[in-house]
Amino acid sequence: MSKKKVLVTGSSRGIGNSILEFFLNDEFIPIGTATSSNGIEMIKKKFSDNNISGHALELDLNNTNSIENFFKNMKEEGLSPDILVNNAGIARDNLMLRMSEQDWAEVLNVHLTGQFKLMKNFLRGMLKNKWGRIINISSAAAALGNKGQSNYVAAKAGIEAMSKTLAREVGSKNITVNCVAPGFIETDMLKDLDQEYLSVVKSEIPLQRLGKPEEIASLVKFLASDEANYITGQTVHINGGLFM
Ligand code: NAP
Repeated sequence: MSKKKVLVTGSSRGIGNSILEFFLNDEFIPIGTATSSNGIEMIKKKFSDNNISGHALELDLNNTNSIENFFKNMKEEGLSPDILVNNAGIARDNLMLRMSEQDWAEVLNVHLTGQFKLMKNFLRGMLKNKWGRIINISSAAAALGNKGQSNYVAAKAGIEAMSKTLAREVGSKNITVNCVAPGFIETDMLKDLDQEYLSVVKSEIPLQRLGKPEEIASLVKFLASDEANYITGQTVHINGGLFM
């Protein structure tokens, strides 16, 4: 069986980095992205430490030129992913009254529009192969709402609705489209949150702790596997019971 190409966006750090790690074996050709050359080098090191020949490419989803270059580079290297994990993300939090249009647009660009562009671009290859797995990273915040995150929750709720629609459009071609919606996970994304607020959050989570990036990666790997062949159009929540 030929190796499956797996693209994980935003895999220099956090959840994306753990997801990429789960695909570092002989069954896959991993492709990671970062916004900076530093991030690219970190991904390359991960490949060489594990003796894997993967690809590390630059991609800034808030920059049209970067996206076009990325598509060009993927094409030149013959890289059409069989498994697409749309993970890259940012937060630009503020109460709605104080939220700038720039912060609104950036978050929508990176999450919702970025995922749309990647799915649209790589769908053709999956349709041709009559096989594909798309896993979009959403957030529990899309279901709960979250003070200070009107941009982020709008983007994530949009991603979930868009994914259901695409699941209906391409299901007959053996392509599944699902979302994974994490709760609070220990990554850089939480580093600016007030520690007192985080202790209150932890006390409200039935499992009484934050999640680990590898716990999200394990669910993503499952959704990409043959064991999940009959799952499509779903948002799978993983949050220690914070939202149920
Ligand atoms: P993180 O540790 O901050 O990592 C973010 C990743 O996205 C990095 O690899 C970063 O690349 C990349 N990225 C940032 N801006 C980008 C841009 N403009 N274009 C392309 N890539 C960009 O975040 P994380 O916590 O792992 O989050 C990963 C995903 O999980 C996101 O979609 C996030 O919304 C979602 N999520 C996270 C949590 C949580 O509690 N952590 C909860 C729910 C959902 P560089 O290293 O180059 O900056």
